[in-house]
Amino acid sequence: MVSGAPGHGLDAVAAALGDRVARDQPFGALTTYRVGGPAALMMEATSEADLVDVRRALSGHNVPVLFLGNGSNLLVADTGFPGLVVRLGRQFTQMTIPGVAEPGLPADGGLQPEPDPVVVRAGAAAGLPVLARRTVEAGLSGLEWAVGVPGSVGGAVRMNAGGHGADVASCLVRYRWVDVDPAVDGDGSGEDGPERLQFGYRVSSLTSTQVVVWAEFATHPGPVEAGRAAISDIVRWRREHQPGGGNAGSVFVNPPGDSAGRLVEDAGLKGFRLGSARVSEKHANFIVADRGGSAADVSRLMAHVHRVVLERSGIDLRTEIHPVGFPEGENDGRERVAHRQAGGGSGSSGPSGTVSRGIS
Ligand SMILES: Cc1cc2nc3c(=O)[nH]c(=O)nc-3n(C[C@H](O)[C@H](O)[C@H](O)COP(=O)(O)OP(=O)(O)OC[C@H]3O[C@@H](n4cnc5c(N)ncnc54)[C@H](O)[C@@H]3O)c2cc1C
Repeated sequence: MVSGAPGHGLDAVAAALGDRVARDQPFGALTTYRVGGPAALMMEATSEADLVDVRRALSGHNVPVLFLGNGSNLLVADTGFPGLVVRLGRQFTQMTIPGVAEPGLPADGGLQPEPDPVVVRAGAAAGLPVLARRTVEAGLSGLEWAVGVPGSVGGAVRMNAGGHGADVASCLVRYRWVDVDPAVDGDGSGEDGPERLQFGYRVSSLTSTQVVVWAEFATHPGPVEAGRAAISDIVRWRREHQPGGGNAGSVFVNPPGDSAGRLVEDAGLKGFRLGSARVSEKHANFIVADRGGSAADVSRLMAHVHRVVLERSGIDLRTEIHPVGFPEGENDGRERVAHRQAGGGSGSSGPSGTVSRGIS
């Protein structure tokens, strides 16, 4: 396994990857939270061959690896990440979107058989909002929801991102992956269908060494005007209901049948501030970091909110944001206290294909 304390394996990994890798690079600044420290090593992969080289370089060394998408679901510790961060370059942003001759429903509105799905492919580094807009402009419907999620295709597959009545699990057809764990069997890459990913609510079974390189999604012909209108509605809804500034979207997963934002609000924490972090006034499941703030404050506030909600409602919220570089077990949004699992539980049992109201 590629995990554990990096020790001086960093030097060996850096040497093996040569000038493709850089040391002590800003990392927290690349996330939407814009807080947190550097990555010990960082590289941009420009091909699958680069990913295979990463696997070779990691062999025999305890150096953790992390794939960075758009950084819209990460909280990087102020001390940074003591391993190798890999970003996929623009070579992984290509999209293949088939043209549709006559999109839309027949003018007479008569009953028609379900059209065959039109499969679009997007590189893992492509932005979800771009994919949403391009498919709509090509006369395809089904990915409009993705305009509101500021992540990459790869990050969205890992997280089973979703909103507005859909998610990745409901439209993923196929994906290609590479595993950079040196202990992996076979050639460490392949193509699979969604069943392999064991999707749950905002989770998949992808591990930290498995990187998605492209994904295919099912769409269907749809009128361009209707698609544009849906996109405008989603963008407007987001502006009205979600804060700007440094954040990574919803902090906690909605428990089954409930809303984490409502629970935080009912606990009286809307607007609550700890140091440079505050619970958003606009949406109580968002924690916003001040410009120049610290990941430690965000982390402390997450733990505080988790504890107060548990005390008030008995519900043990599960964190949606991925903490990076924090000591093992720290900053999963919980204070280090023994507590019972109660009420709606972890929220991880949501069936794939279902989503909460509005946002994650
Ligand atoms: C304002 C705002 C609103 C948001 N709204 C929503 C929402 O409505 N619904 C929702 O689901 N999420 C939402 N999010 C959270 C976030 O956008 C999603 O989780 C998104 O899918 C993360 O993608 P990313 O590329 O930014 O991933 P990152 O944050 O870079 O990484 C997230 C995880 O995915 C892994 N990862 C990244 N790229 C790959 C890859 N190619 N292969 C494998 N693993 C990879 C990372 O290692 C990490 O574990 C919101 C975030 C913000 C800031």
